[in-house]
Amino acid sequence: MTDEERDWDRPDDPAAVREALIEWYEDDHREFPWRRTDDPYAILVSEVMSQQTQLDRVVEAWEAFLERWPTTAALAATDRADVVGFWTDHSLGYNNRAKYLHEAAQQVESEYDGEFPTTPAELQELMGVGPYTANAVASFAFNNGDAVVDTNVKRVLYRAFDVPDDDTVFETAANDLMPADRSRVWNNAIMELGGVACGQTPRCDEAGCPWREWCRAYETGDFTAPDVPTQPSFEGSRRQFRGRVIGTLREYDDLDLDTLGHRIRVDYAPDGEYGREWLEGLLEDLAADGLVELETGPNGETTARLKR
Ligand code: SF4
Repeated sequence: MTDEERDWDRPDDPAAVREALIEWYEDDHREFPWRRTDDPYAILVSEVMSQQTQLDRVVEAWEAFLERWPTTAALAATDRADVVGFWTDHSLGYNNRAKYLHEAAQQVESEYDGEFPTTPAELQELMGVGPYTANAVASFAFNNGDAVVDTNVKRVLYRAFDVPDDDTVFETAANDLMPADRSRVWNNAIMELGGVACGQTPRCDEAGCPWREWCRAYETGDFTAPDVPTQPSFEGSRRQFRGRVIGTLREYDDLDLDTLGHRIRVDYAPDGEYGREWLEGLLEDLAADGLVELETGPNGETTARLKR
């Protein structure tokens, strides 16, 4: 085992972790038109545009670009100034990206006979295509990529599996988690998780994060991340306490309400503001989410345990 492999909290059951994320993604995700195509050219255009511009705004520009230059051949044959003009008109950020895209289209035409290369290594030979974009195109067009590691993915891995802030370890962990031959759905899913659930301010419960039962941050309430150096503020601290309940129940077979309450907050008082009623509400939510089981004993006392 190398240092990189030892350095993070690899899940005991990676198959369950993978399945949960793919199911969550397939059940519901944001619809972007480039997610409905496997045309490498259209995907490359979307990736280059998305580097600097909010995804919602990219949609219109992407559609207009492809209407004007529907193929690499069409783009390669046009004047570079027209491509740069389009970039400026649509406020797409650095003009260099337009130049590189034009150059890449010419490379595909002249060096690859108009057929896109299919591996991340070859794709990186195209002008302006770095490791991230190469993997994204290889995955989304050809289902042939390595794991994509961007800021969103780093944040998720850091929080969920304690992956240290080190690019080599992030890459090892991301590839280790990715199921074989499923880079298209996997990379889409983990980026979606980082985009809609595990943002700088996480929305673990609201977004129904499928990794709550394994996530270290959810358990400990520490949601810092490489791009979130201080604890993000929430509307309330309910989420942290949910994490503490899960973390505490993991240590015991089951616990009665008051014992659990005292373990998760110092100001717990059975009849106080943060007492049994408050804790029952928290536990009922966790039970509704399938994370906890509640049992009522012969004298009406409630015990809680993790759902296994
Ligand atoms: S449980 Fe929360 S912190 Fe953990 S991976 Fe999911 S969204 Fe991120």
